[in-house]
Amino acid sequence: MPDLPIVLITGASSGIGAVYADRFARRGHDLVLVARDAQRMETLASTLRAETGVAIEVVKADLTQASDVETVSRRLQEDDRIGVLINNAGAGLSGSFATQSSAAQQNLIALNVSAVVALANAVAPRFARAGTGAIVNIGSVVGLAPEFGMSVYGATKAFVLYLSQGLAVELSPKGVYVQAVVPSGTRTEIWDRSGADPANLPPLMEVADLVDAALVGFDRREPVTVPPLHDAALWDAFQGARQAMLPGFAATVPADRYRA
Ligand code: NAP
Repeated sequence: MPDLPIVLITGASSGIGAVYADRFARRGHDLVLVARDAQRMETLASTLRAETGVAIEVVKADLTQASDVETVSRRLQEDDRIGVLINNAGAGLSGSFATQSSAAQQNLIALNVSAVVALANAVAPRFARAGTGAIVNIGSVVGLAPEFGMSVYGATKAFVLYLSQGLAVELSPKGVYVQAVVPSGTRTEIWDRSGADPANLPPLMEVADLVDAALVGFDRREPVTVPPLHDAALWDAFQGARQAMLPGFAATVPADRYRA
């Protein structure tokens, strides 16, 4: 049997990333786990090594810090055994736009946007040259819902969805699979970490169910996987409405409704 690629998972110390680590280890993949809490990742790694026999490396990195992003990027560029990137590390931010500090918003963008782009950029050329590889980016339904009043978090996740769809257009002809995973509220530490009021949490999906559904989409090579969306036709209609506008964007005169 050919060697399975190594899977590099960011945000692997808890929640969705930790379940991805469990599932890929049980599929027989060696892993590189990335997050800030090395001790937690070591604990997970020793359990998974004992239970599955795969090799697991732990890389401590704060993905809001350019030097740490650079370290992980270099690893992705140089280690051609890594064939899957799970761009999962992310955080939320409580409060309304006007009450959040600019520093906190910029920090969120560094983690949820800049690091995601940098790590995808680090692997994309190598994957494209090899004609294989997979990039999985974790978005959120909030990225489709400005109505939820989580403007900066939602904007980072809208970015992740757009980036994933754009990368799929650019990279799938070269043999590289790109998946956007779009969870809704999922039972992880993100709520507590972002200061959400425990009395006001939305209904939550269990994290194992979320990741197992995302992996069904991964195995089917779906470009966008929305585990909580039961009516798949709604997504197709949404994409259809967007694509129906594209020819009109070539218009060189303004629409009639804008004529004075
Ligand atoms: P989580 O349990 O809080 O996990 C977040 C992970 O990201 C942790 O492993 C954390 O590890 C890591 N992380 C946070 N800040 C980091 C930093 N500066 N540098 C490196 N790693 C960092 O939350 P989760 O729900 O699993 O979140 C995973 C992804 O799912 C995020 O992108 C989130 O936006 C997305 N998502 C979650 C939900 C939900 O309801 N849970 C819904 C939609 C989308 P360390 O603290 O050890 O660094």
